[in-house]
Amino acid sequence: MAPAEEIELSPRIADSVKTTTCYMCACRCGIKVHLKDGSIRFIEGNRDHPVNKGVLCAKGSAGIMQHLSPARLSKPLKRVGPRGAGEFKEIEWEEALALATSWLAPIRASDPRRLAFYTGRDQSQALTGWWASAFGTPNYAAHGGFCSVNMAAAGLYTIGGSFWEFGEPDWEHTRYFMLFGVAEDHASNPLKIALGKLKARAPEAAAKFVSINPVRTGYSAIADEWIGIRPGTDGLLAMALIHELLAADAVDFDYLKRYTNAPWLVIQEEGAADHGLFARDAAGRPLAWDLKADCLAEALAPEIEPALAGERRLADGRRAVPVFQLMAARYLDERYAPDRVAAATGVPATTIRRLAAELAHAAFQQEVVLEQPWTDWTGRRHERMIGRPVSMHAMRGISAHSNGFQTCRALHLLQMLLGALDGPGNFRARAPYPRRIPMRTLPENDPAVILAPCRIDKAFSWEAPLAAHGLLQQVILQAWKGEPYPIDTLFLYMANMAWNSAMNVPGTLAMLTDKGEDGAYKIPHLIYSDAYYSEMVAYADLVLPDTTYLERHDCISLLDRPISDADALADAIRQPVMAPDRDVRPFQDVLIELGARLQLPGLVREDGSPRYPGLYADYMANHERAPGIGLLAGWRGLDGDLIGAGPPNPEQVKRYAENGCFFRHELPPEQRYYKHVNKDYLAFAKRLGFVGSEAPVILQLYVEPLQRFRLAAEGHGRVQPPDQHRSRIATYFDPLPFWYEPFEEALVDPERFPLHAITQRPMAMYHAWGSQNAWLRQIHGANHLHMHRERALAMGLVDDDWVWIESHHGRVKGQVKLMDGVNPDTVWTWNAIGKRAGAWNLDPAAPEAVKGFLLNHVISELLPERGGYRYANADPVTGQAAWYDLRVRIEKAKPGEAEATEPRLPPLKRPPGMAAPPAKLRYGAWFQGRR
Ligand code: SF4
Repeated sequence: MAPAEEIELSPRIADSVKTTTCYMCACRCGIKVHLKDGSIRFIEGNRDHPVNKGVLCAKGSAGIMQHLSPARLSKPLKRVGPRGAGEFKEIEWEEALALATSWLAPIRASDPRRLAFYTGRDQSQALTGWWASAFGTPNYAAHGGFCSVNMAAAGLYTIGGSFWEFGEPDWEHTRYFMLFGVAEDHASNPLKIALGKLKARAPEAAAKFVSINPVRTGYSAIADEWIGIRPGTDGLLAMALIHELLAADAVDFDYLKRYTNAPWLVIQEEGAADHGLFARDAAGRPLAWDLKADCLAEALAPEIEPALAGERRLADGRRAVPVFQLMAARYLDERYAPDRVAAATGVPATTIRRLAAELAHAAFQQEVVLEQPWTDWTGRRHERMIGRPVSMHAMRGISAHSNGFQTCRALHLLQMLLGALDGPGNFRARAPYPRRIPMRTLPENDPAVILAPCRIDKAFSWEAPLAAHGLLQQVILQAWKGEPYPIDTLFLYMANMAWNSAMNVPGTLAMLTDKGEDGAYKIPHLIYSDAYYSEMVAYADLVLPDTTYLERHDCISLLDRPISDADALADAIRQPVMAPDRDVRPFQDVLIELGARLQLPGLVREDGSPRYPGLYADYMANHERAPGIGLLAGWRGLDGDLIGAGPPNPEQVKRYAENGCFFRHELPPEQRYYKHVNKDYLAFAKRLGFVGSEAPVILQLYVEPLQRFRLAAEGHGRVQPPDQHRSRIATYFDPLPFWYEPFEEALVDPERFPLHAITQRPMAMYHAWGSQNAWLRQIHGANHLHMHRERALAMGLVDDDWVWIESHHGRVKGQVKLMDGVNPDTVWTWNAIGKRAGAWNLDPAAPEAVKGFLLNHVISELLPERGGYRYANADPVTGQAAWYDLRVRIEKAKPGEAEATEPRLPPLKRPPGMAAPPAKLRYGAWFQGRR
């Protein structure tokens, strides 16, 4: 036979293809999994899917190795040795569930707060949060508190939505795109696709892409202009841009009058209980000054011509001025002038002035006009949509600082001044956003919601009053201290709190293993669920092994973080593409079964039998959060012909599966922009339960709830903070954004710790998950500390030198790498590459364990002591973990010191049932007959 005849040109590589949703990062792309003989062969992007349109990234295709990972847990485990030793015995599911129930049932009956239930990068929060509420504990949250709660809370109080998943730039029409602090794993395929299109524009329609980030990697590397800002100063830059725009009158006054609270009058009565609050009429409606009638008027009355400046007298004779006037006075102040902020930000004044001029040019000289009539909330018909095509996007780089809340607010102010929010060319809301401001679940008009520290994580306490997501990073410390009360069971899911999700790793491990005088662990019970042998597993008393994402149902719900885009409502599911080959169960199924055993309301019928015998898939289709509102929006109603609201449809999950596992409803063209004030969209949003009424969502330059907290701190009202917290609340709850030096930077000696240290996330990895993946490890096997070349050379450092990285809290050893594209005062490394030896079933001598290092070792969960108290290393408004406030010094390791990272914790033992990993993990060998 001739060689050509031996080559099979069209081999049959699969005998079935199933659709589902990727879970290799947060983007939730649609995928097609090709299977042969029930085994996975390859993963392809789903071309019909709205998120990725067929694009699959390196992480997505490496889902195969995630699924085949040697670190997969295979059976429930019960601890038999000391906590942390990794000594377990395998048990049956019945015993595991009975044990969990025996811990949980008594505390539910006596004091449900004694359960603390926290999840990591959980994409089923619509279930997990609801389950915790049904249990009766206030102590639950996902990982938002250490990820992006600053950004979320700032947005929710300002624009009724926020950056990242709550919206997206109008890629088709924008002419100027600013990206603040976005790492590659947080916005992967959708952003890559969009940036590709932006850069492919014809010259006459070109859009400029400016990236503001201390590090020039990933997206910053392909930006038209990179601004290597000093960490923690983005807010200062934004306020300097506002200063320049105000000075140049480059402001969209019509937009401010119509859609923001710029004209609302603010009471000026220093010392009064309502100083700084909005002047309101007898019905509680905010007032403005009507220039046409020359009198006070309801601020939202459509026929008035509201004044943006000028002191006015209220009916009781007191003074009031419009928000805009307060704002102009603040930002026109010289402290925000480019020349004054240049040194602090590391951005030259000429650059700041040019950026402001470019923003103004794009907004006012490159207006976008869409010939699309629409009707605003007052009933006024507009013949066309006019956009000021500046768009922005931001993520953890601005969020993970102790000044991040106010920084993020400043970015939204900048958008509003330019009239560049939710119009053509702008950052646009994605349904179900915008919501009313603030959302019903957030503190609004009365600090009385802060009655007492009622949550274990300090969320919504005076130390973190607007903690919209809860504070996972505080849980272990507080549970160990037993403050504000002791807990009984810490229940964690997918949260690697013993390693890359903890600040102060050694301290956290000590707390997890610490015992009281009675010889019992201070945190009595610890249940952990994960699919993999992460560092956290060894610290659990009971391990509930989860499936991989290809082996279960999941729900990307509008009640959680949906996959809508600005033009369409969308949600999705995961379906099992294969059955597990181990004794593992989907965590969501386990929760539903545990809930039934605990007789949680909503999970059992009146006779006590399980309400959802079909477990999560059953719950996804049949659970109603409110009448007609369930987890999934598509194919509702018995006939499956209703969208968003309607009775449950038992066939709903099947309909999703038939449609590629997603649902998408395109908004009609007249509803796609100005959603916050668009009459037709608001009516649609009300019908689907996104908003409680068709009232407009007026954008808030000035956030009155913040002023209410401030007044409480100044001694007004029936609920006030303890004296210890008064000045902190009064200072940081400023209703207009201001910039302050990040806390750690202000508290440590700048000469001793002269450098900022931050982490970045690589495109090829999604936290600890990705860095154990056999294919992705080949891209990033060990992390370095990246330094500016000149700074390093001045210290006598060259590539691969070992250095100590020391903070006020501790030190860790790693190797340096020199580069040019980094702010000279900043060092950085890839996050979560370093691993504890033995974890993730990697060889204890793997580069991740020997050379890779974890910056978390030198980050403290508490700030240095001041006034006898140590506050959390966090934003004072939301409690967001201030990961990127870290200050360090670098010192070359001494000759003779080990060429390995330190500290190195004792290797973890392999748990029972986990086979040693093969020396070479070769995917494909088995189906090619070459094992
Ligand atoms: S971007 Fe994220 S969700 Fe999309 S294919 Fe890549 S890893 Fe999967």
